[in-house]
Amino acid sequence: MAIDRAGGIYGTRHFEQQILAELERAYDQLDDYLGLRPGRKIEVVVYDPAVFDQQFAGAFRFAAAGFYHGVIRIRGATALDVRLSRVLHHELVHAALDAAAPSYTLPAWLNEGLAEWFEARTQGKRHLDGREQAMLSGAKANGVLFSLASLSTPSFGHLQQNAAQLAYLQSYGMVEFLASQRGERSMREFCDRLMRTRNLDRSIKHVYRADLQTLEARFVAELG
Ligand SMILES: [Zn+2]
Repeated sequence: MAIDRAGGIYGTRHFEQQILAELERAYDQLDDYLGLRPGRKIEVVVYDPAVFDQQFAGAFRFAAAGFYHGVIRIRGATALDVRLSRVLHHELVHAALDAAAPSYTLPAWLNEGLAEWFEARTQGKRHLDGREQAMLSGAKANGVLFSLASLSTPSFGHLQQNAAQLAYLQSYGMVEFLASQRGERSMREFCDRLMRTRNLDRSIKHVYRADLQTLEARFVAELG
């Protein structure tokens, strides 16, 4: 892993070192939680927030703190706080999945769900909190939950802010639901199998002993 200093690195040398240390910690956790060990060099560019906004504001319909598209690009800050740590963990999952299966595009619910799950889990968070539960059960009651099929586009980049927020939360909820079905160690087995076979349906069936539609229905039923 390398920080590209030529890419407009933002902040102090101390800040850069903090970022690098955090990425190395996250790299070890990738293996622990998802069984991903990217061998390929992962490039990370940290931007001055104003430069980031200027260059990438048009690329998203919702505020982004960072994104991965071949290179991890992060909206800088003055210090490494929890928010930035979460962004680093999140984007590293996208980079690692891409490194493991470069020509395979995961459905966005799984790509984002795994990234959201990993960033939460590595902060010590298990399960959805009360606010998240309430948002999902409210969406269900209002009939506005997405189907997993409609969350299977390559990304959520086309969604408006409110829709995107629900899409990310639902994706996180679905991955958390899977982890709770057979224990979170199952995530490693599932990711490993998926990256090797690139067959989502069969990987899901093998590890979670049901097809995706059945699992989706169970997840929605549990939302209350
Ligand atoms: Zn993401």
